[in-house]
Amino acid sequence: MPEPIGISNLPNQRYKIVSREGATFTLMVAGESGLGKSTFINTLFESDLIYPESNATRHKAPLQKTVGIDITRAELREKNFTIRLNVIDTPGFGDNVSNNNSWQPIIEFLDEQHNLYLRQEQQPTRASKKDLRAHACLYFIRPTGHTLKPLDVEVMKKLGTRVNLIPVIAKADTLSPNEMLEFKSRIRSIIEAQDIRIYSPPLELEDQAAAEHAKQLIESMPFAVIGSEDSIEVSPGNIVRGRQYPWGIVEVENDQHCDFRKLRSLLLRTNMLDLILSTEELHYESYRALKLQSDEN
Ligand code: GDP
Ligand code: MG
Repeated sequence: MPEPIGISNLPNQRYKIVSREGATFTLMVAGESGLGKSTFINTLFESDLIYPESNATRHKAPLQKTVGIDITRAELREKNFTIRLNVIDTPGFGDNVSNNNSWQPIIEFLDEQHNLYLRQEQQPTRASKKDLRAHACLYFIRPTGHTLKPLDVEVMKKLGTRVNLIPVIAKADTLSPNEMLEFKSRIRSIIEAQDIRIYSPPLELEDQAAAEHAKQLIESMPFAVIGSEDSIEVSPGNIVRGRQYPWGIVEVENDQHCDFRKLRSLLLRTNMLDLILSTEELHYESYRALKLQSDEN
């Protein structure tokens, strides 16, 4: 049974601000090449939250090695509420030692979207705005089991000041449960020590169950994910998305195997609205303030 998207059920005022025209949600993925970013996006699109239960339509070219920045659009409909979902897949970086600034286009893309939006806001016309400001950026970390690379730290710092940064550990099936726990805790300490800004779900919720869920999400960070394009029959008639190994099957949507469902819930259900609003109120506002200041000088 797929969970509903849920955004159409939010009763509060802030929701109404977003809902008049429906919502646009833009998700970006970044990280070294070969970590499963494109596969993850496809897994997300094909998982049953989105497709086909919630009446999603998707426009996308078939999977290919990401060369430039690649945008997939989908529409999710629930009741009378529409979410326009944009997913931005970025080229991987870091595979070439001499190519130190290969992540630069990603940062420029983020800034450029803020800039485009700002320029549209300054126009007198009320035409609906083109908006590709990213509401969240999933940063894929190589599952080394050791530590973050200097390159990861550098890129994450830059991302964290521009976008709601959500670190994820790629290919969770390649680490044992113990290795995963240790790796997670090491990454959390580096994030803290290096003062990297990451997205944290708000805890001050009136609803006890929602607060408990938010706490669980925070404790799971960085989310361990598994992506797969394969459906596997685990028992007669029971088909799951997963990866098959000689010793068994790892399932994408099994909470014992990885945090895919938690991450999907955060992005598309419980925290979508907060991601949208904090982008507007925090990241866009700080871009705007800086930009206006530098224009005056
Ligand atoms: P990208 O360069 O980050 O977009 O990576 P791709 O999505 O193209 O994936 C690179 C390779 O990793 C492919 O062979 C995928 O099948 C494989 N892959 C993707 N996700 C996972 C995963 O969760 N676990 C494992 N073991 N392999 C994965
Ligand atoms: Mg790719």
